[in-house]
Amino acid sequence: MNHYGQVHDYKLLIKRWRVLVRKNGWKIKKIAESADMPVYEVFAGKEDSGNLVYISAGIHGDEPASVWALYSWFEMQSQSHDELSFLIYPCLNPYGLMNNIRFDSDGDDLNRSWGSTEKSLISQIIGRTKQLRFSMAINLHEDYDASGIYLYESLGGKMRDDLAMDILSSGSKYIPVDSRKKIEGRWSKNGIIRPSPNSLPKEGLPEAVFLQQGLAKRTFVLETPSEYDLRLRIKAQVAMIQKATSKFSV
Ligand SMILES: [Zn+2]
Repeated sequence: MNHYGQVHDYKLLIKRWRVLVRKNGWKIKKIAESADMPVYEVFAGKEDSGNLVYISAGIHGDEPASVWALYSWFEMQSQSHDELSFLIYPCLNPYGLMNNIRFDSDGDDLNRSWGSTEKSLISQIIGRTKQLRFSMAINLHEDYDASGIYLYESLGGKMRDDLAMDILSSGSKYIPVDSRKKIEGRWSKNGIIRPSPNSLPKEGLPEAVFLQQGLAKRTFVLETPSEYDLRLRIKAQVAMIQKATSKFSV
């Protein structure tokens, strides 16, 4: 991304991904069409790798730092992550990105559509991931109500460590942590929300909850404040992805 005007340019985003994929010998594949636009997955590494990581961005189109951060992070990595394998969704809502809106072309919130196969794009991903198991899943988002960075963490079992705090601390080099005690109606402590599985959104199943139902050992939903400077939002997200995945580097 060279200037702010390009941030909603989906074709440019995919063009960049194609170059990156070719350079690194990864795979890019069209998985569905949404409002006549192709949606892609990128795969790097091996499917039976013991350390497969799922990362998605741009499910809400008005959260552009997510897609550019994901791209920028991978651009910086190139071959340095031999031990890790990735299933990546560079942008799940191209229509939303191009039009700077949260919803898809049907006016639906794709992040509340994971409990059914009604949306062909989502049902493709549900089918694709059925046989896979992820060491970690990361969903990248932004929030226009936020005053800083924050995250949702879902953990399988009773595992507890400081990774969530470390992730926010990495991002806080660029944007402070959101200090609100309640965020989106949920209790937050130092920018960390650990939602109870009993209080799911009524409108439908979010991507993170779908992933947490047996597919991923742990899931992070990373959020930057969308009223903040775009370049800093991208830098903060890149730093947070870096910290989250650094757990696996040898
Ligand atoms: Zn979002």
